[in-house]
Amino acid sequence: MADSNDSQPGAPVPCAACRGTGQVISNLGGSPSQVPCPWCEGSGTQIPGHDAQAARRAAAA
Ligand SMILES: [Zn+2]
Repeated sequence: MADSNDSQPGAPVPCAACRGTGQVISNLGGSPSQVPCPWCEGSGTQIPGHDAQAARRAAAA
């Protein structure tokens, strides 16, 4: 048995928004700047049930 790399429940999933880098390019303000990904909070791993919009609302308040 050498099938250890199959999809396992609970395995980390790379964040689709930043492609696992933990950083995204924000064009807010006119000039591109690299910011921590709000979807994975810079971890580069998808966070189940994480609401990026909630974080943006809190930051913009
Ligand atoms: Zn991300």
